[in-house]
Amino acid sequence: MGEVIRLEHIVKRFYLGQPNELEILHDINFSVQEGEFVSIVGPSGSGKSTLMNLIGVLDRPTEGRYFLDGIDLSRVTDNELSDIRNKKIGFVFQTYNLIAKTNAQKNVELPMLYAGLGRSERRARARELLEMVEMTDRARHLPEELSGGQKQRVAIARAMANDPAIILADEPTGALDTKTGRLVMDLFHRLHREQGKTIILITHSPELAAETDRIIAIRDGQIMDQGGRD
Ligand code: ADP
Ligand code: MG
Repeated sequence: MGEVIRLEHIVKRFYLGQPNELEILHDINFSVQEGEFVSIVGPSGSGKSTLMNLIGVLDRPTEGRYFLDGIDLSRVTDNELSDIRNKKIGFVFQTYNLIAKTNAQKNVELPMLYAGLGRSERRARARELLEMVEMTDRARHLPEELSGGQKQRVAIARAMANDPAIILADEPTGALDTKTGRLVMDLFHRLHREQGKTIILITHSPELAAETDRIIAIRDGQIMDQGGRD
């Protein structure tokens, strides 16, 4: 098992109009091994989502280097980057981020459409994924017709669409009650155990974090503890 993610001296600043700039992440260093299930914990505003957006290649760091599967992403063009993102990373968000106008099945198909898969292949795979999250009977429902937990299960099916090696989940249970959050967490455990997915989970819940292989604690844009690794 190798290293899938390596961050070296990552700094992130936001420019708020000259001359103001805000440094949100300061010299972040860590790596994640293939098949690891790690959690990132820290107070609100500590930079967790900013870090997740960098790991998910939704944004680029101001300084430092990010190696994904050994590839130095600073040398990759924006076009290649979105391709890498679509193939290698699945995202799950607190607010689900489903497309409101289209049904569960089409939501799951979307990343496959971007990846260039044909219609029948997309349909078959989406059905398989909806079955995995036990949402087959809701395939034709719009997001607004689904409960929070159901929406999150569709979002997890969508995250798995292109069989990514890595799943990034930013407070996936944050809007759910404890029982529903438990079901979502169990799904992540299954994907980790049965499919060997590398999972990075941001959570406010110490209990859920304690279920993962390693806890990375972040505060004020710095890593305070990374569970016995550097
Ligand atoms: P967390 O997810 O841990 O709650 P965030 O990463 O969302 O924290 O935010 C960390 C800090 O960065 C906050 O102070 C937030 O206001 C700031 N921030 C996040 N995104 C931007 C942005 N695009 N522009 C300016 N400031 C931002
Ligand atoms: Mg956040």
